[in-house]
Amino acid sequence: MRESALYETFARQPLAFERGEGCWIITTDGERYLDFAAGIAVNSLGHAHPHLVAALTEQAGKLWHVSNLYEIPGQSRLGERLVANTFADRVFFTNSGGEALECAIKTARRYHFVNGAPERYRIITFEGAFHGRTLATIAAGGQAKYLEGFGPKVEGFDQVPFGDIDAVVKAIGPETAGILVEPLQGEGGIRTLPNASLRRLRELCDRHGLLLILDEVQSGVGRTGKLFAHEWAEITPDLMAVAKGIGGGFPVGACLATAEAAKGMTPGTHGTTFGGNPLAMAVGNAVLDVVLEDGFLEEIARKGLLFKQGLAAVADEFPDVIEGIRGEGLMLGLKCKAPNAAVQQALRAEKLLAVPAGDNVLRLLPPLTVSEEEIREAVARIHNAAAAIQAAEKADA
Ligand SMILES: *Cc1c(COP(=O)(O)O)cnc(C)c1O
Repeated sequence: MRESALYETFARQPLAFERGEGCWIITTDGERYLDFAAGIAVNSLGHAHPHLVAALTEQAGKLWHVSNLYEIPGQSRLGERLVANTFADRVFFTNSGGEALECAIKTARRYHFVNGAPERYRIITFEGAFHGRTLATIAAGGQAKYLEGFGPKVEGFDQVPFGDIDAVVKAIGPETAGILVEPLQGEGGIRTLPNASLRRLRELCDRHGLLLILDEVQSGVGRTGKLFAHEWAEITPDLMAVAKGIGGGFPVGACLATAEAAKGMTPGTHGTTFGGNPLAMAVGNAVLDVVLEDGFLEEIARKGLLFKQGLAAVADEFPDVIEGIRGEGLMLGLKCKAPNAAVQQALRAEKLLAVPAGDNVLRLLPPLTVSEEEIREAVARIHNAAAAIQAAEKADA
């Protein structure tokens, strides 16, 4: 076989897809898979959602790109809608989660700079975090496997064990600018930060004049049954990074801020060529049309519970394969006893797609539009996969 022309950075599954319909995705040779990977929580409304297809194709016939040198009505509109539905007063649009985090980190540093405290640039982060693959976000995430070989780690990130609030207290110093955390870790293994911990972080930020920065790139846009996961804790951040689900498959990211937190981001301090372009904004607005419909978020919470109960029964039946179930809403994880790669493989044989994560977890992130019937079908396939692994383990023993 010819060598691939592509960087070898991805360990790709040997599957190539041609088209999709809702929660189903079809390979080039016509095999149908139930897609509970959803492009890593990106295809929030499934594949080929008619409202998204219409929004994108209609915009494609009008105008693709103008740059941020001009007004972009769709961008103003999506910004206003995000402001109306969240804590935020200001929005900066990007093309990815990593860029949304970069914007959040820069905004936090500039806030202290314009407050006359340029020495406050350090940000406290948590072990197991994932914030992207740029030089700053690999430093923020702090995972050795992503930092190795890329030169000096970007300065200014102090990491503490996940959820350890006492360690946060100890890490706060005169140079601290903020605290950055995922309310529910995705790549780290579907690990939830308890509501009480999130509230304590808010209090610490208030007490020490720090900015609370949430990374809701994966947990946001309805995934947990609230528009944003932090709403469960009834707190608000100062800054928040959003991406993945907001574009439904079109590359869109956003950094949301209070007016106070964004006050340092004056003309010329930051920019982007592609961020917030008309195509991206048409799709982002279309995603919000659906997610903000009456009852849509409540349905996610309800379906998530149903899914979790089904999965818990499978875990009870096959404790040597699945230890337990983690997560909220439709952001769930199988904490595996067998290697998560083996469970992923067995699910693939059942034609169900899932995404591995840290801590030997396999993530289940179906489109938010998944039906009860599709959830039951997924549970049946996971049951079959667990049974197959247990049978293979018995045969080996
Ligand atoms: C995926 C992800 C990112 C990075 O997003 P990219 O679009 O890949 O840059 C950052 N934070 C979290 C929590 C993510 O899940």
